[in-house]
Parts: sequence; C-alpha cells; structure tokens
Amino acid sequence: MKITKVYTEKYKWPKDKPIQNGKTTFTHNSLNLVCIETDEGITGYGTSYELNFVDRLGQLLIGENPLNNEKLWKRMYVPKFLGRRGNSLWSISAIDIALWDIRSKAANIPLYQLLGGSRESVPYYIAGGYYAPGKGIKELQEEMEEYLSWGAKAVKMKVGVLSLEEDAARVKAVREVIGDDVKLMMDANCAYKAYEAVEFSKMVEEYHPYWFEEPVDADDYDGYRKISEKTIIPLAAGENEMTRFGFRDLFATRAVDILNPDAACCGGITEYMKIASMADANGIVMSPHGQQQVHVHLDCAIPNVIMAEFYPPQYDAKIYEAFKNPVRLNPDGTVSPGSEPGVGLDINREVLKDYMVEDSSYAL
Ligand SMILES: [Mg+2]
Repeated sequence: MKITKVYTEKYKWPKDKPIQNGKTTFTHNSLNLVCIETDEGITGYGTSYELNFVDRLGQLLIGENPLNNEKLWKRMYVPKFLGRRGNSLWSISAIDIALWDIRSKAANIPLYQLLGGSRESVPYYIAGGYYAPGKGIKELQEEMEEYLSWGAKAVKMKVGVLSLEEDAARVKAVREVIGDDVKLMMDANCAYKAYEAVEFSKMVEEYHPYWFEEPVDADDYDGYRKISEKTIIPLAAGENEMTRFGFRDLFATRAVDILNPDAACCGGITEYMKIASMADANGIVMSPHGQQQVHVHLDCAIPNVIMAEFYPPQYDAKIYEAFKNPVRLNPDGTVSPGSEPGVGLDINREVLKDYMVEDSSYAL
C-alpha cells in the first residue's frame, strides 16, 4: 500500500453560547481533519486542534507505506525544524492518527481491538460545569442534575475564574446536588499559582474532589510537587504534555496520580501507547483528555485507563450528527466505541458542508 495524497478539511461553526474555562473563552466549535489517501482506496482520517503544518509534513509521506507508523513518525519528528512541542506536534499527531485509521480499516477491525482490546466499554465522566454568561450556582446545579438523569456516575466542573471563595462555593453547591456517591472532578486549566492552588485545595477538601486537574501551568513541575505535598486531593495533568520525553519529566515529579494525555497533542496513537505503558510502570492511571471519538478506542484497549472524558451533545450537537459512528453512551454509566473498523472519524459531509473554512485556528 502507498500514500498518494495528504490534505486537510477544516470546519468551524459558532456555539449557541460561549463557554469559559480557567483561561480561555470558546466561541466556536471546530473539526480539523487530516485526510490520507492510498492507492488501495482506503482513506485515513486524523484530527487535532489546529493543523498548520500538514502541507509540509505531507511531502514526507507521499509514496510511503502507511502501515510503517514508526518509520513515518520518526521522519516527521525532527526537533529544531519540526516537532518536539506545540502546533507542529499537533499536525504530527493528526497524521499519525490517520495512519492508524488506515491500518485499522485495512485490518477490517475497530481500533480498540487492533490495539489489544481490554474491554467493550469504559466508565465515563461528563466534562461540564463551565462558566457561561448568566450562569450562576442554580444553573450549575441544574446542569449537574441533568447529567445524573442520564446515568452519569462522575462529573467534572471548571474552577479558577472567580475568587477562591466563590469557586469553593460552586464546588460545595455541586457536591450538595450530586450527593456523596458521584465522583466530582475539578479542572483549573492552569489558572492558579501554586500557592493559590494549595489554598483552594484546603478550602474544598471537605467536598471530596476525586481529582484536581491542571491546577498550575503545565511547565510548572515544581508547582505540582509543592501542591501534591500539601493536599490529599489527587492531582491530574497531561493534556498539555507532549511526547514520551515530556511525560518522562512529568512522571519524575511524583506529583501526578491521574494522567490526561491527548493523542491529538502528544504525538498521535503511536506515541500515546508508549506513554500509557510508561504510566502503568510508574503506577499512574489514565483518563484521556477530549477527542472522545478516538480516545474511547484507546480507553477500551489500555488496561490502566480508569475513565473516559465525555462531552455531552449540548456542547456540540452538530458533531454528533456529523460522525457516522459516534461514541455510544450506555445506561450503566459507561461509553463504548463504534463497532466499525477505523478510529471513528469518518463524517457525513452533508451535515458540515456549510461550515468548511480555510483556517479554523483559535483566535487567541
Ligand atoms: Mg482539562
């Protein structure tokens, strides 16, 4: 098999209402696809948050066998010129995911089984609790009640935008409405300094958060160490970490109990599987960040994954219509991958045809 064409398809559409986390306000949803065509009629699809380096990287792939993932990863990852971290690694990640899509389709089995298949479903948590205009504590509680009505046994909320006291009151209010048996995660999206995160963790420990995600900047390894020494709340991190080399440095802090890697950022599925093994050997469990279409396959392949992050349809209804095999939400608090071969990124283009754009980059 040979790669004949590498190109991108980008879609962007406005959200009904902007949502805000600890550092960023999101006004649009987007879908960025890398498409890799082959001489055998199989097309692979990969994705990441921005795809600005695909044209250049694609030149390295034409004529190559797409099943040689390791060879092609090494060819693309050239520190100093391309790769290592940031936006170029996003493009490498998306291309690598597309190569696994081709491999899975060629084998005619879904990705999770191609990667080893450890289970058919995985517990999920709902990634919600964002800040939004006009949204107070009452609305936050109503949101959480809705998730419980779906059968959710774990929910996540954002912190880090308001004062420590106001955000602690939000955590208290959510714990009150979900009861003691539902897991509650907090995500600061790097909004705090270490001393603030320590103070905040003391204020909310009595509400038993299951984890405290990205309390400080991803590069602040000392900050993670300091916080972990002063709180009983387990720390989670990894959505902004990249490659096995970055994760090696994160593991060395001994501060993080739950890892949130993202195959669309960390170097694709080839790199993700290496990181998963490193985590297991270090006694660290995983719950990947975002990209639920792809990650549900990895969750069902990798034994040391404890939970899937699940974004409910009200954050992005269009994407649920667009994917041909969307993640299945089961009534027992678990999700399952589609049974079709591939990584799950095949779309119905009719749904998104009015939203195709040249450049879907974030406006920062
Ligand atoms: Mg997060």
